[in-house]
Amino acid sequence: MKIVFASGNEGKVKEIKEMLEGMEIELVSLKAYTNVPEIVEDGSTFLENALKKARIISEFTNETVLADDSGLRVEELGGQPGIYSARYAGEKATDDDNIDLLLERLKNIPREKRTAFFCCALVLYRTDGSYDSFESKWHGLIIDERRGKNGFGYDPVFFVPELKKTAAELSPEIKNKVSHRGQAFARLRKKLAERLDVGA
Ligand code: IMP
Repeated sequence: MKIVFASGNEGKVKEIKEMLEGMEIELVSLKAYTNVPEIVEDGSTFLENALKKARIISEFTNETVLADDSGLRVEELGGQPGIYSARYAGEKATDDDNIDLLLERLKNIPREKRTAFFCCALVLYRTDGSYDSFESKWHGLIIDERRGKNGFGYDPVFFVPELKKTAAELSPEIKNKVSHRGQAFARLRKKLAERLDVGA
């Protein structure tokens, strides 16, 4: 089964290929296409953004498309940075800039009020307009100091109490099992396995 992934980010495509390993799926990056329509991520939720990307790319390629959108929601900040997670400190912000701004906004907020979760929305969109969507969350706390070197984004300050580690202190294998993305992909694999009639 051929699935186009609605992103040209090779790092992400590689990670997603790994998560779908063992399934009879040919995952194609958007890099394989030219004149791809520009997509403005103007939805108000992760799911709306993922659905918009999946629909536009499916209509453009005439293929089944997988799209994702993810980010961090900090409860004390009313859900910020949310859908703006990648560009919280500005369009060209680095991961470090985004973390600095987040820690600044959480200054003087006590540990018990620093609860947050990562969210991942996945949409598998078919050419007939039908789709399946999956949304998963990963709960933790935002700590004041950066810990760990793995992962990306807000991982160094996202502390997972059950594991007593930040996301950046987890190995990729463990993170992929327990994270918002890992959980959403597990559900997608299950769905695909039903359709392809193979094990998840
Ligand atoms: P996108 O889904 O590629 O648009 O990513 C959104 C942004 O959310 C990323 O740039 C990160 O800032 C943040 N984010 C999403 N997932 C993770 C994660 O697993 N760890 C750390 N940051 C994440």
